[in-house]
Amino acid sequence: MVGMVRTMDMSAGTYPQDLIDRFVSIVGTANALTAEADVSPYLTEGRGLYHGATPLVVKPGSTAEVSALLKLASETGTSVVPASGRTGLVGGHVPRDGGRDIVLSLERMNRVREVDPVANVMVVDGGCVLADVHKAADAVERMFPLSLGSEGSCRIGGNLATNAGGTAVLAYGNMRQLCLGLEVVLPTGEVWDGLRRLKKDNSGYDLRDLFIGSEGTLGVITGAVLKLFPRPLGHQVAFAGLKSTEDALALFDKASTLCGTALTGFELMPRIGIEFTTRHMPGVRDPLDTVHPWYALIDISTSDSAETAETMVAALLEQGFEAGLIENAVIASSVAQQKAIWHMRESMSDAQKPEGGSIKHDVSVPVSRVPAFMHEADAAVMAAVPGARICAFGHLGDGNIHYNISQPVGADKAAFIARWREVNAIVHAIVKAHGGSISAEHGVGQLKRDELIATRPAIETELMNRIKQAFDPAGILNPGKVIG
Ligand SMILES: Cc1cc2nc3c(=O)[nH]c(=O)nc-3n(C[C@H](O)[C@H](O)[C@H](O)COP(=O)(O)OP(=O)(O)OC[C@H]3O[C@@H](n4cnc5c(N)ncnc54)[C@H](O)[C@@H]3O)c2cc1C
Repeated sequence: MVGMVRTMDMSAGTYPQDLIDRFVSIVGTANALTAEADVSPYLTEGRGLYHGATPLVVKPGSTAEVSALLKLASETGTSVVPASGRTGLVGGHVPRDGGRDIVLSLERMNRVREVDPVANVMVVDGGCVLADVHKAADAVERMFPLSLGSEGSCRIGGNLATNAGGTAVLAYGNMRQLCLGLEVVLPTGEVWDGLRRLKKDNSGYDLRDLFIGSEGTLGVITGAVLKLFPRPLGHQVAFAGLKSTEDALALFDKASTLCGTALTGFELMPRIGIEFTTRHMPGVRDPLDTVHPWYALIDISTSDSAETAETMVAALLEQGFEAGLIENAVIASSVAQQKAIWHMRESMSDAQKPEGGSIKHDVSVPVSRVPAFMHEADAAVMAAVPGARICAFGHLGDGNIHYNISQPVGADKAAFIARWREVNAIVHAIVKAHGGSISAEHGVGQLKRDELIATRPAIETELMNRIKQAFDPAGILNPGKVIG
């Protein structure tokens, strides 16, 4: 991205070789990477916005090794970037340029430590892959509800550090609501064993909640107690064609009232998103044979019986048609069809890539303000970038919209992308006017750090700086991310 890409600088040698050797000796040479080809996958991120450099990647195999690494880092002023699945979208796991940071990868700490289906908890290492957590829960007829397009690669430490959201936040909450306890290694090397399994614990400041969402700036999460849930007995997915975002909101209101906590997802998609996915994503088909300006994906899961979900989805669509909110709709008739509809929604971001440059926003506004936000943002963006193709989709039920803008057809990609900051400022001003957030679920990292520092109330930045200073007095953990 013009004006934002960090130039690659492989200059190792920032730290003396004997110091590098001391880090290597903690994990063993088999678990330390220094060759350019070996470290290069740790220097980038999926969108190609950032490209850093590092003299060393260490892969500890235990909490004790993480502790020894961070103790040495604090004593020697060596900055460390924690990395888990490296699927983050804001450059948080990418080391800075100049070879100033070593990368601490949790990938070897990938065990499920314990599963207790009676207590509905699971204890895992920080490097456990999210999909493996799903499998371990499934094996005891339970469910861990966090679900992301990146779940085959992202890891629990990263999910916690970013307070990941995903597709089931409406019913189950984000990572903050799905975690009971943490084990964290502090930048000093001290270990906080907070692996509690308590639903009720009012014993002072909530340290767990400080680490969740801290994007690797306060401590390295090495273990976690996760909440499990009974597997739903009924599951239905419907796909509805709609006239407007106002109708989508009214339908969401009906769905919430009718389904209560059984409403697991309510996703909004624009026509252009359906066109992009059917054009570019193999196997994706439009589930409807009619064309509509907007679409809703409605996901309902019920814990008592399959029939309840069937009755609910049928009643909701009936109400939606009667109220004139739905123009056409289909209910997935098999698990394969349910997955196909979800796949279409989840590939909407990737489907923009072949259309050229895309300027992205991950924003949230109070749910009832989504239509107003969209109208105002659309008008402002079209005035600034005539011909822009707005592909705004996302978790309507959470008020979280991925407000993505594809370049005008035939426009120069670099020139369009060079306007990233300018377009962000236009959209973010409208988000703020509606009392929203410019970082709804992907976090701050490097991407939004400066804008947040410049725009959030000074007292918030000051409090965050004081917290950072208390946890990381040497300033060695993930510098340059989130706040400083
Ligand atoms: C296809 C796709 C779909 C996605 N969908 C969603 C979505 O729906 N919702 C959503 O919220 N996100 C989504 N994301 C973003 C990303 O997957 C999440 O942010 C995820 O939680 C990151 O986990 P990770 O293991 O990859 O972390 P990483 O990318 O490795 O790290 C992310 C941040 O956490 C820090 N960190 C990593 N591990 C630790 C640790 N053990 N202790 C302390 N700090 C640590 C890093 O320093 C970095 O700042 C998506 C990404 C992709 C590529």
